[in-house]
Amino acid sequence: MSATLLIGGRWREGALPPLPVFNPATQEVLAHTADASAHDVDAAVASAAAAFPAWAARSGRERAALLHRAAERFRAVHLEEAAVLLTRENGKPLSDSRKELLYSADVIDFYADEARRITGTHFSGDMGGTHSFVWKEPVGVVGAIVPYTFPVDLLAWKLGPGLAAGCTFVVKPSELAPLSVLRFVQAFLDAGLPEGVINVVTGGGAAGAALVEHPLVSKIAFTGSVDTGRRIGEAAARQFKRTTLELGGSAPCIVFADSDIRTAAAAALRRCFSHTGQICISVNRIFVERPAFAAFVEYFSVAAARLHVTADGVAEPNADMGPMISAAAVDKVAAHVADAQALGARAVLGGHRLTDGAYARGHFYAPTVLTGVTPAMRVMREETFGPVAPLMPFDSRDEALALANDTPYGLAAYVYTRDLETAFACARGLRCGGIGINVNDITDIRAPFGGMKHSGIGRELGEPGLDAYLEHKHIRLNAGGR
Ligand code: NAD
Repeated sequence: MSATLLIGGRWREGALPPLPVFNPATQEVLAHTADASAHDVDAAVASAAAAFPAWAARSGRERAALLHRAAERFRAVHLEEAAVLLTRENGKPLSDSRKELLYSADVIDFYADEARRITGTHFSGDMGGTHSFVWKEPVGVVGAIVPYTFPVDLLAWKLGPGLAAGCTFVVKPSELAPLSVLRFVQAFLDAGLPEGVINVVTGGGAAGAALVEHPLVSKIAFTGSVDTGRRIGEAAARQFKRTTLELGGSAPCIVFADSDIRTAAAAALRRCFSHTGQICISVNRIFVERPAFAAFVEYFSVAAARLHVTADGVAEPNADMGPMISAAAVDKVAAHVADAQALGARAVLGGHRLTDGAYARGHFYAPTVLTGVTPAMRVMREETFGPVAPLMPFDSRDEALALANDTPYGLAAYVYTRDLETAFACARGLRCGGIGINVNDITDIRAPFGGMKHSGIGRELGEPGLDAYLEHKHIRLNAGGR
């Protein structure tokens, strides 16, 4: 399989040598995808630009019907096979893959409904007989560039609102996990989406960069690392393109002594280690009020020691963790842990790669719990993006907030307390886009999702997630009279 360029409604091969897609648990080659050239990107953008006027002119009702049909088709026909592909290419256990894909279809359904609710406003002007009309129009051709972490879901967060708004797309999946995305897109074609409304260019960073530079692309919707996001933001700014940049995170979890420590430890554990810590809203730094620190460390590390790491997430669909995405990702985790240990941290659990038996051929790192950490360590300052939980005590709310905010990131944070005043003081004091209080997930389709500081620009999901694909146009009419 390398006919993975979708241009003008047809799957095509690329001219460049195809790229292998690896199973990170075994390093086996799963498939090959085309490596889109600048010429391929140009053809895909031209196709999206040609399809734009007719798609934008369709009624919200028609767009809604097509999107609902695509979501239904995906659930009914593609979901199981796409879930296996996702597990094989990304490493997450099958039940996590299914959950991601069901959520993706749900996002499409949610924005399909919204397609019918895109309306403008009218008001009488405050001078003479003028009237103002505010229309909402689709921004145009969108380049959607997604990472390997939640490759389908994070695409659905873009396609759902963008298609509902009337935009057309060129999608650039991650070269590390493109296969499940291709199945997701196929569901839209099956549903009868007009040709050219979604195009796909598989390939690496060069294909993404060509998309960002293309003058006919009006908006870039990107999810990925801060470094890539900065490059994209700079290039897009030169052409005044609209951007949504969903970037990295270093989420703190603040646990107060008045909370149910066992529950908080279980919740933090799940948010630390699921997807092997490779989630932008993973818990990365845990601060526990000193009187509860020893109990928390005990509960947390005992539970962490029971986590099952699978080398075959299809055969063991309910395993806790799988491999990391690449050798480079494991090396980064190992470097961060080594740095912490050199500066005095202690690995209560883990602190090493997994290399024996079933783990021998893949990219595995053991669930790791560190104590004795300080803010100077890389695990506390950078995005480790792996199965590492640094635990640190604090003595006051102000200290906890200062520690939590001491990072260039501002995506997610979590707070555990039974005290309402403490909860709201933390919600006010934390500089990040989403805060979970006594809950370890900040995602709700109806609520905005996104980051402050270096975690990005703009919001996805909810109403802002739709507005990001609409231009507001003001028409001022002098109708005469008064
Ligand atoms: P990445 O930045 O390496 O790659 C993301 C995408 O960008 C890929 O498709 C890649 O091919 C493409 N790309 C690379 N260079 C490019 C360039 N110069 N121009 C255009 N496109 C380019 O990210 P990754 O390693 O795949 O994903 C992990 C990162 O994503 C983490 O930092 C994580 O925090 C972040 N992330 C953020 C969110 C969020 O919503 N904020 C969600 C998930 C992941």
